Amino acid sequence: MSKSVLVINCGSSSIKFALLLEDQKFRIHGLAENLGTPEARIKGVTVGNEPVDIHIPNADHKEALEVGLSRLANYKPDAIGHRVVHGGNITKAELITPEIIEKIREATPLAPLHNPAHLIGIEATQRLFPDLPQVAVFDTAFHQTMPSHAYRYALPKFLYTEHGVRRYGFHGTSHAYVSDRGSELAGSFRQGGWLTAHLGNGSSTCAIWNGESVDTSMGLTPLEGVVMGTRSGDVDPSIHSFLANNLGWDIYKIDKMLNSQSGLLGLSDLSNDMRTLIEASEQGNEDATLAIEVFCYRLAKSLAGLSCGLPEINGLFFTGGIGENSAYIREKTLNYLPHFGFKLSKEKNNELKRGTEGRIDQGTGPQIWVVPTDEEGRIAQETKHVAFHEFENNDATTQAIESV
Ligand code: ADP
Repeated sequence: MSKSVLVINCGSSSIKFALLLEDQKFRIHGLAENLGTPEARIKGVTVGNEPVDIHIPNADHKEALEVGLSRLANYKPDAIGHRVVHGGNITKAELITPEIIEKIREATPLAPLHNPAHLIGIEATQRLFPDLPQVAVFDTAFHQTMPSHAYRYALPKFLYTEHGVRRYGFHGTSHAYVSDRGSELAGSFRQGGWLTAHLGNGSSTCAIWNGESVDTSMGLTPLEGVVMGTRSGDVDPSIHSFLANNLGWDIYKIDKMLNSQSGLLGLSDLSNDMRTLIEASEQGNEDATLAIEVFCYRLAKSLAGLSCGLPEINGLFFTGGIGENSAYIREKTLNYLPHFGFKLSKEKNNELKRGTEGRIDQGTGPQIWVVPTDEEGRIAQETKHVAFHEFENNDATTQAIESV
């Protein structure tokens, strides 16, 4: 029998929730935002597509969950799946037990903004639904298959053995979903070598061999890798001592600059939003034009670098708000990657409708696909698998769930 799953994604000042009903054909979405401020509110739509907007001034995570979930409780989920950013060395989705909660707590130094918020969400839902199985689905878990030569930094060994300093990778739920779905569409489910480019406000790339992550662009934290909305991606780590010695900046100021004031926003001095930058560039804004160029060049460089993890390249999948919607960014990025034989079909690329899956290469060379991500759907599937050992009907999905 099919089960309904409530998927919770607790951030530092927001909570996204989605109830995936029965066979996942219906979803109810909610968003609690501006938590801890007078503007705190819950927005969403009901099953009947009625808008919901509840003002909850100064509400914290607990109160927002109580208000939001007490409404959803009418729909009686069978299980709850929590997105958890950092699971340390945990390799798959896990039923939430005191031991798993402790492991999430232990990984807090590696995700100081996210993991404490996830723990608040878990505690609140356990109080609201004490009888329901609850599952943690980790962003890091998919990348635990990376070989040590991909996940180790060239740093003193004790930092790894005693303090867990290594590359973990993030967006695992998305890379897992997109590579499974994309390889299935390509007729070679979980076979061969694929590159994924998840391009949203946070962006990362991944190399996948026979369905397993073998390398990815993010590292110890989600700051490493490609250019993002407000995150710098890779910089020379000596920038810390340079700014400290020359500008007198402390570590918090540098961290804030790299995470919240850099990336597309920093380069353009205008916006972290790719759509805004493309429009500004069309109107002659040179900083926006440069920001887009750096984004695409660094992205192509990352994909080329990750290809070293693959014995062969069957193709590339684009996903995320930018990857799914911008033919312009896809084309610009592929212009920097002629070496692997990618041949983009401009026509198919430009004609692909928003939010749809589709192949956009000319039919020779490695395949190029757009595959809209579905992190909620994947979290719900993994939750059902862990809580009830339930599989979807089609074979591909079944194997996908078994593998995580
Ligand atoms: P998040 O990482 O927060 O989930 P999304 O995956 O929704 O973010 O991606 C947000 C990004 O997608 C923004 O930079 C936005 O401008 C960009 N985006 C959405 N639609 C388009 C489009 N048509 N062209 C270019 N960029 C787009």
